[in-house]
Amino acid sequence: MSGSSSQYQQLEKLGEGTYATVYKGRNRATGELVALKQINLDSEEGTPSTAIREISLMKELKHVNVMSLYDVIHTENRLNLVFEYMDTDLKKYMDSRGDHGALDYATIKSFMYQLLQGIAFCHDNRVLHRDLKPQNLLINNKGQLKLGDFGLARAFGIPVNTFSNEVVTLWYRAPDVLLGSRTYSTSIDMWSAGCIMAEMYTGRPLFPGTTNEDQLLKIFRLMGTPSERTWLNITQLPHYRTNYPVYPPQDLHAIVRQIDPLGLDLLNSMLQLQPESRVSARDALKHPWFAEYNTPARQDPVDMMLHPSNLMGPPQIPSSYGM
Ligand code: ADP
Ligand code: MG
Repeated sequence: MSGSSSQYQQLEKLGEGTYATVYKGRNRATGELVALKQINLDSEEGTPSTAIREISLMKELKHVNVMSLYDVIHTENRLNLVFEYMDTDLKKYMDSRGDHGALDYATIKSFMYQLLQGIAFCHDNRVLHRDLKPQNLLINNKGQLKLGDFGLARAFGIPVNTFSNEVVTLWYRAPDVLLGSRTYSTSIDMWSAGCIMAEMYTGRPLFPGTTNEDQLLKIFRLMGTPSERTWLNITQLPHYRTNYPVYPPQDLHAIVRQIDPLGLDLLNSMLQLQPESRVSARDALKHPWFAEYNTPARQDPVDMMLHPSNLMGPPQIPSSYGM
């Protein structure tokens, strides 16, 4: 921990999340814009030293697709996290730019590649996100996408209520977590990534469940009801019921209409019910759907989004792409 909160001028409120209120801020010394995330600490529980240790570890996680944590300032009843400033989050971006929330092919591909790069980096460093959703993916005017809220779920536990006591969305939560598995690992973030990919195509959440049970049923209705045959040891999971309606798997293409066959293959590999069958972030990055980023020429995903014509062949007249 270093720095004091007076180093930063607090500007307007940017958003309210699961753990905190986030303000725009300015470093008084450098003039640099930052995001100030204020987490109020329960005074009765005293200093959450494990939380602070977890959060301080996040300062070491440096990657272009992970939001940088510059500073952790701990006062008596508040934790101030100082992050790099980002212009918007994926939820707001889809609401404002999308065609009814749906994004174009070049943007979806670039955002998915950046999302998976961020996830792969964190998983390589044995950090899970556990609460990936559009609101937690930050986007800047350069077209970069970065994971926010990393490590907080670990520091504070998987969220149930938000800071303002709304119920946390279950829409991106993996079926193994919903079934009460306590041994979840990196695969839980890949489920969320699949849900986010589908949502970028359609503009609508793939599984908008209202309760734990409703969330599971929405998943089963589309992906098919799992059994011991398709998911070994599922019956051992704490919240497993023996009397789920038996749904056959549906074709995801019927829901995600705009997706191409390769994209659909990648999406399916992320939305595997059994966690062990889900593709890893590293392997997903090698998927043929990302061929243009993985050729020897190594096209830059941000560049490709800004100049989508590059996806179809040689560069043409650069298009302007203001955000
Ligand atoms: P919580 O952990 O409480 O969920 P988040 O980090 O998700 O908090 O932030 C809540 C909201 O604040 C985000 O959804 C986003 O709209 C905004 N926000 C968060 N971090 C930044 C940032 N670095 N730059 C700009 N806006 C941000
Ligand atoms: Mg959040």
